[in-house]
Parts: sequence; C-alpha cells; structure tokens
Amino acid sequence: MMSDEHFMKEAIKEAKKAMLRDEVPVGAIIVCNGEIVARAHNLTETLNDATAHAEMQAFTAAENQMGSKYLTGCTLYVTIEPCPMCAGAAYWTQVSRIVYGAEDTKKGFLSQGLDLLHPKTKLSSGIMEDACSNLLIDYFKQKRK
Ligand SMILES: [Zn+2]
Repeated sequence: MMSDEHFMKEAIKEAKKAMLRDEVPVGAIIVCNGEIVARAHNLTETLNDATAHAEMQAFTAAENQMGSKYLTGCTLYVTIEPCPMCAGAAYWTQVSRIVYGAEDTKKGFLSQGLDLLHPKTKLSSGIMEDACSNLLIDYFKQKRK
C-alpha cells in the first residue's frame, strides 16, 4: 500500500501545475484501489469559472474514469481543506475518504463549523501540511509584488 504522503506528493504536483498557470495553487487527486484515477488542479481563472476548484475537477474526472456517479472505495487527496461547496460535492459522490494537507482557516468547511460530509466518509488532515500551505503562501507573496 502506498502511503498518504506518497499520494499527497502527487496532489502537490498538481498544485504546482496550477501555480504555473497563475492559478491559486490547489491540487487534488483521487485514488481507487491504490491507483490514481483522476488528477486535477484549480482552474478558476483558466475557465473563468468560480466553481472550478481542484476537487470539483477531480470528482468529475474520476466519475468519468470509473463510469460511476459514486466514488465509494475512493480517496480524495487535496492540498488544502475543502471549501463548503467541495465538501458538499464530496457528499454527493460518497467518496470513502478525504485527506487534506493544510487547513484553510478562512474558507475551509470545518473552519466554518460545517459538518457537510457523508456519514460514511472518513477524514484525515495534516498530511505534508507545510509543503501544501507554503505553496499558497508563496503564491500570494508573489501576487503582492
Ligand atoms: Zn472548493
């Protein structure tokens, strides 16, 4: 079994792709049976779509890949704590597990006190937290220049 760190590194690679497109660097991957079935990053600027968060892209890609609207047995790895929209989307997919890196104290669903996940969805956090949050810190520093 590959570790959570291994898969989070893949999500971080996606976040870096977002950074190269001048997008807020958030990356997500979905793993099913030890295999990556979707890779995605934030595309809100590229698509002019405020809902084009990494997780939303990843859910759609994984569902297409799996030929199923449910992601039971799959794990979502995302570099930052999901927002309420993405946590709500996760509910509908019934994804079995969510692993995020850094918390988002402003826009994260937990930070807003919302319990939005499906009862069957397990949550882990703090995986490679510093690497995940440093990407965002660097991005916003560079933006202010
Ligand atoms: Zn979101």
